[in-house]
Amino acid sequence: MIKQQDFFPPGLLTTTVESLHSLVPEATLFHLEGTQKTPLFISVLLHGNETTGFLALQKLLLKHQQQSLPRSLTFFLGNTKAASQGLRHLENQPDFNRIWPGTELADTAESRMAQEIIDIMHQKKVFASIDVHNNTGLNPHYACINKTDNQFLQLANLFGRLIVYFIRPKGVQSAAFAEICPAVTLECGKPGQAHGIDHAFEYLNSCLHLSNLSDQAVPTQDMAVYYTVARVKVNDNIDYSFDDPKADLLLDKELERMNFTDMPAGTQLGTVLKKNCCPVSVEDEKGNIVTDQFFLVSDRTLSFKKTAMPSMLTLDERVIKQDCLCYLMERMSL
Ligand SMILES: [Zn+2]
Repeated sequence: MIKQQDFFPPGLLTTTVESLHSLVPEATLFHLEGTQKTPLFISVLLHGNETTGFLALQKLLLKHQQQSLPRSLTFFLGNTKAASQGLRHLENQPDFNRIWPGTELADTAESRMAQEIIDIMHQKKVFASIDVHNNTGLNPHYACINKTDNQFLQLANLFGRLIVYFIRPKGVQSAAFAEICPAVTLECGKPGQAHGIDHAFEYLNSCLHLSNLSDQAVPTQDMAVYYTVARVKVNDNIDYSFDDPKADLLLDKELERMNFTDMPAGTQLGTVLKKNCCPVSVEDEKGNIVTDQFFLVSDRTLSFKKTAMPSMLTLDERVIKQDCLCYLMERMSL
């Protein structure tokens, strides 16, 4: 059974993310009562190294220390153990944002916990759900949704103009909550940036003060919605680098600047030393390999074959290995 409490230790308001683990050693749900009874749900630290959500939540709790909450609030502190080590997750743990109902991973204690949280929040008639994340590359702030209903778009649009719709990967928090309430994943730029924490805090505070979520359409000029069409990985047998000219694939250091920008056909991404070999592979949302549609290798140069909008491009070689090089997106008309 997941641990639940209707109060939080006072030290929570001042602790660092690294020492949070000593206050909250296991994943815990905190239920706080407010004027409107159906709770807002906020999860943070599903990825232990993504600190913005917790720091924004801390500000929200601090603000409401002396005043009553306008709406009930349930918050979930996810992987505090990984957070104490500054890691996404520990070696022996699954990724806490792949364990939610709908997951393709095997049944684990963590996936049962995620199912239990969904059941509890369903019973409480959860008002809306917000899961707060960071990423490693140079990306603008944006909200992700897994359904394009008006209430989801309204909730996402409160965070900003930029919205990303996706259906893969499976097992993410926002996709599971999307089955029971309007739900978003926030991407708040790199961890540790004050404007990211402020933006997330203002957003959480606004959502807590909402009396309802409109189901009116968001005016199209107020939002830009993108759909993730493919995921780009560097092939396993390729060694890549941003500065070693002897690497099979020497990637351009300016790559990060391409995020959320339409890159025309012919845009170069790097130099290929292995002759006649495409160093990356592209998988579409159905799992088909569609590399040839997007990339071209000629004269030892890797370039886009058609106009593409990347996201999540990062200079972090470890993230490229663990996750992927980037996602490719297309604009949606709604
Ligand atoms: Zn994350």
